[in-house]
Amino acid sequence: MPELPEVETTCKGILPHLVNKTIASVIIRQPKLRWPIPLKIKKTLPNQKVLSVERRAKYILINFKKGTLILHLGMSGSLRIVKSKQAYDKHDHFDLLLKNGNCLRLHDPRRFGSVLWTQKPALEHKLLCQLGPEPLTDNFTTEYLYTLSRKRKVNIKQFIMNTHIVVGVGNIYASEALFLSGIHPRKTAGSISQARYETLVSSIKQVLSAAIKQGGTTLKDFTQSDGKPGYFKQQLNVYGRKGEPCLICNKPVSHCVLGQRATYYCTQCQK
Ligand SMILES: [Zn+2]
Repeated sequence: MPELPEVETTCKGILPHLVNKTIASVIIRQPKLRWPIPLKIKKTLPNQKVLSVERRAKYILINFKKGTLILHLGMSGSLRIVKSKQAYDKHDHFDLLLKNGNCLRLHDPRRFGSVLWTQKPALEHKLLCQLGPEPLTDNFTTEYLYTLSRKRKVNIKQFIMNTHIVVGVGNIYASEALFLSGIHPRKTAGSISQARYETLVSSIKQVLSAAIKQGGTTLKDFTQSDGKPGYFKQQLNVYGRKGEPCLICNKPVSHCVLGQRATYYCTQCQK
């Protein structure tokens, strides 16, 4: 599943190809994504100029004077810039054709992605208005997370993966950040000290920044039609390493399921 680092890199990659460019037409080959693609954008978008492209959580927002196109990559979606005349693949469900002959193409085999349109400020959209802060901004602080955590009985892993608390901490990053912080994933959010939250907040920022940095080198060219962007290859300390030696203490990495998600940790290094 594309996580925040992949979405951030995608957003940065497509941005220079879209901003100040004018839409020629819209092709919807398969409208049945997670939600139906609104067919009216075929009439609304032509001749509209892209004002800006930004990311909020895992949504990519393409802003026009008349409104915002809200894209989500779902489980398997990817975006490329291709020539409009380039032949499309089976799972290329949506094209945003530009007047310069280029095209933003959405490829999504599992069709859990989405293409939505709003005429109101995008951040007020029901999918976006209740999201917590971005983890890599100054709004995501120790004080913020510590204060919210008081009296919370949920385990810390599910707490940091809750998008109402903070966005972008996906399953892999939650395991990795907790390992770096020395915090056991089952520990109750409300029982963790402020000092440990300080370590956790910086670990979350660290794992996400590292993944984005890695992604920047992996996914340099969004105009290549071959080689779909996949998961960033990165150094993982615990995730997916069940039974393998902990990189710090050599004890076999443990595995459990929390909130129906695979969870990896070291019983010796994480308390
Ligand atoms: Zn260990």
